[in-house]
Amino acid sequence: PLPMRPDIPTLLHDVFGFPGFRGVQEQVVSRIMAGQATLAIMPTGAGKSLCYQLPAVALEGCCVVISPLIALMHDQLRAAQAVGIRAASLTSVDADWRETQDRLRNGDLDLLYVAPERASGEGFRNLLRAAKIALFAIDEAHCVSEWGHDFRPDYRLLRPLLDEFPDVPRLALTATADHHTRDDILVQLGIPREGLIIAGFDRPNIRYAVHPRDGLPRQLSDLIAGQTGPGIVYAPTRAATEKLAETLSKTGRPTRAYHAGLDPQVRAANQAAFIASEDMVMVATIAFGMGIDKPDVRFVAHAALPKSIEGYYQESGRAGRDGEPAEAHLFWGADDFARARQRIGELDPLRQQGERARITALGGLVETGTCRRAILLRHFGENPPPGCGNCDNCLNPPPSIDATQTARKFLSA
Ligand code: ADP
Ligand code: MG
Repeated sequence: PLPMRPDIPTLLHDVFGFPGFRGVQEQVVSRIMAGQATLAIMPTGAGKSLCYQLPAVALEGCCVVISPLIALMHDQLRAAQAVGIRAASLTSVDADWRETQDRLRNGDLDLLYVAPERASGEGFRNLLRAAKIALFAIDEAHCVSEWGHDFRPDYRLLRPLLDEFPDVPRLALTATADHHTRDDILVQLGIPREGLIIAGFDRPNIRYAVHPRDGLPRQLSDLIAGQTGPGIVYAPTRAATEKLAETLSKTGRPTRAYHAGLDPQVRAANQAAFIASEDMVMVATIAFGMGIDKPDVRFVAHAALPKSIEGYYQESGRAGRDGEPAEAHLFWGADDFARARQRIGELDPLRQQGERARITALGGLVETGTCRRAILLRHFGENPPPGCGNCDNCLNPPPSIDATQTARKFLSA
């Protein structure tokens, strides 16, 4: 398991305004924070930039981003500066070179964008020698490969630069997934095969199911009785976590609780026990799971509505990382929506609209009589087939009249 600094979720939320990681972002960021060379293959729109921007903010020193087009760089630069990241570029159209160089040397930059022809030059290398570099991010990394659709010979000159800073992790990013290109990028940029991470939002081995809450302790006990492997139950509060853990331990399964309010030693011990276990049930707040790599989690259950579809996807996605069949169960009730509305009402008005949209999207997920996976994947910009054959609605199509009007009623109220 890779360590993940506890401030990472806070930065993700406070700096970037995202409720959670998407898809493999968490995995990529974990690797980078642990200093490991990585090639991330993620579809367009999957959120590649965050994979280096977040470590750039979290790590001491500057992240050097190599990007092939000035227009692309300047788009990203503006977006980064808009959320308060200290970012600059060194291109032919930038007038403030001296200032940028000073900021780099003074440790006053999180992100520096350069083109490959600049990055590979001796002058730039001299500059880097006088600065603290946290990360090299090679965007559009398929440009390094003659197999790729956009070969740029200048990308081939990057390797000596990367190798001169052996302690600085390198992260290559591209949306091009064909395996010749992929293998070539690994070789050209000196990234070990185990550093290859391929996204795609679908998790076909996870069976999704949604249930109206109706005597939750019994529902969860039944669920656990039908499962043999390790599982995580996400509960909404610390108190609920401990209470549920106690109730569920009566099923005879080893059960522990995890939340940020526990004594750090107890927390670490519970986490270690879970990672080593083949049948433990961990009842946790969403503080649990970040950066924990346990491939054989067989089920994830949510005792209440999560905060967003991103959160749900991320949390449920901790099941079945080994590719074997796994289950995701979401229990919800009308009171979850009532509580969400109350919580939103107390927020800064600027944030209310976004939060309301998140809850509405969740309403769509729990209410639907159609494929759950299709709803999740469409939320992430994919274009899935209408039925997956591996969710509750596909396996047991509900009667065509929609019996669950509760969510809608609470949303429109
Ligand atoms: P890519 O480079 O992979 O095509 P970008 O980095 O441009 O994707 O990100 C695509 C969009 O996804 C951006 O609008 C970005 O703000 C958004 N995004 C990235 N990460 C997240 C996240 N964890 N949650 C929500 N939105 C995200
Ligand atoms: Mg930094």
